[in-house]
Amino acid sequence: MAGEGFVKFLGTAGARFVVARQLRYSAGTWVELSGTRLLLDPGPGTLLRCRKVRPALDPGKLAALILTHKHLDHSTDVNVLLEAMAGAGTKRRGVLVAPQDALEGDDPVVLRYVRRYPERIELLEDGKTLRLGNVELIPVRHQHSDVDTYGLILQGEEGRLGFVVDTKFFPQLPERYRGCELLVVNVVMREWRPGVDHLSLPEAVELIGEVRPRLAVLTHFGMGMLRAKPWELAEKITDKLGVEVVAASDGLTVPASRWLGGASPQGEEGP
Ligand SMILES: [Zn+2]
Repeated sequence: MAGEGFVKFLGTAGARFVVARQLRYSAGTWVELSGTRLLLDPGPGTLLRCRKVRPALDPGKLAALILTHKHLDHSTDVNVLLEAMAGAGTKRRGVLVAPQDALEGDDPVVLRYVRRYPERIELLEDGKTLRLGNVELIPVRHQHSDVDTYGLILQGEEGRLGFVVDTKFFPQLPERYRGCELLVVNVVMREWRPGVDHLSLPEAVELIGEVRPRLAVLTHFGMGMLRAKPWELAEKITDKLGVEVVAASDGLTVPASRWLGGASPQGEEGP
């Protein structure tokens, strides 16, 4: 099975304006690892994108649906995808993985009547390893506004993948993702701004420079990042750090060979 895994970016939008105007799609990220299919952060349009990309992706084959946090751009399609994962609601199937506040409290995003579709629901807790099919998931607690937010480390036969989703930078962040061969980083802002709980590009560079993965992929772009042409920024970071960095575009597929090393570093990035 090793070497067959891939990560497909169905969408790469990362801030309210980019999402509202659909300058980039706001769909989630499909991961196949050790034969196990996972869908991360089903933002607006994820089900449609699954069905429209070529080759199409079938949510009925997912092992799990994972919400890193409940903000709209990460969770809007969670209900319809829970139904799709369960054979259009004809059976109980798959696992929902989510933070507690996505399910409880004043403003849960997972509808109660839909909760009968997955076989089970797992809560994300810092460092508590979950097994999803053939993949181990290690949640990393992030600091992102007032909602429970977790980054994800996925371990499969093809390697160790880190998804540094929305967070502000904090000193322990690089250490938590050490050893990841592929590092996906949500870079919403071109420049650091006070009081915004998102990574800026300079912070992402610091993180990538410390983790030193085989490949880093920037995604989840806000307006400032899009205007600055993320594919050009990625090239500059590659030169600066000596680590291969690409900017995700909608539909980008990163095969396992790219993070296993040995593959030629050909850019797939672009507008
Ligand atoms: Zn968020």
